Amino acid sequence: MSTYRHEVTEIAPKTWCISEFKLVNAFLAEGNDRAALIDTGCGIGNIGSIVRELTDKPLVVLLTHGHADHIGGIYTLPGCSVYMNSQDEGFLSGMPADNSFRRFYIETRGPIRFPGEGHVEGLLSLLPNPEPDPVFPFIPAEEGNVFDLGGRRLTAIHTPGHSPGSLCFLDDTTRILFSGDTVNNSIILMRQPNNNTSLIQQYHDTLEKMWARSYDYDHLAIGHDGMLIPKETVKDYLDLTEGLLNGTITGAYEESGFRKGDVARLGRAELWYQCDA
Ligand SMILES: [Zn+2]
Repeated sequence: MSTYRHEVTEIAPKTWCISEFKLVNAFLAEGNDRAALIDTGCGIGNIGSIVRELTDKPLVVLLTHGHADHIGGIYTLPGCSVYMNSQDEGFLSGMPADNSFRRFYIETRGPIRFPGEGHVEGLLSLLPNPEPDPVFPFIPAEEGNVFDLGGRRLTAIHTPGHSPGSLCFLDDTTRILFSGDTVNNSIILMRQPNNNTSLIQQYHDTLEKMWARSYDYDHLAIGHDGMLIPKETVKDYLDLTEGLLNGTITGAYEESGFRKGDVARLGRAELWYQCDA
């Protein structure tokens, strides 16, 4: 029996953060009729069995985006309906059909997010065997889609930037916005050809839309590095992107941990706005 278990924290009534060994978060929200799992981790260990210890309600999977560290655990949830924005479909074909991305993730992130002797080896021992098929069918989810869990509704907001199909999910009962990698403690935007600012502009527009709805939520439940952060973080990222676009803020190239690229900071916001890795 492995000593490594997902860490489960109840962050609000019927709402749990499931931390995949401090690498990435998934969240479970239970309503009267069914439950929603928001993201699924990399698929190290079995998140499906953790979810089944918390709820026996019918389950839907809502993906904040199509990156491998958020979709990699779907193989543990056979038979569940999976919702994702179709603009992130391209990531699925890029996912290797073996454990290589999970191994890479453990070896690069593990020592930083989970420091300590032997943890890399411990996490590697939890890789799925046989290696699961990364392809899964999904139902397209879009801006304004409402997922009624019974006495509790999650509404999708399309928030492109970190990925073209990024979605946040707004929970009307807990007033939590599940923000994935759109707003957390350190956000990545991939480097653009000739360092053009089109992606920063798109992300800025997303933040403007999110902040305009800030009367609907109090906290963000984030994809990495922590669980709940104050909604004012959205405003910090909005001000930061505004400053980068109008030239009042300039960042600099840095290499930090597994991150390389041009980064700028303001308040609670850290944005790798031309990120190489
Ligand atoms: Zn991501």
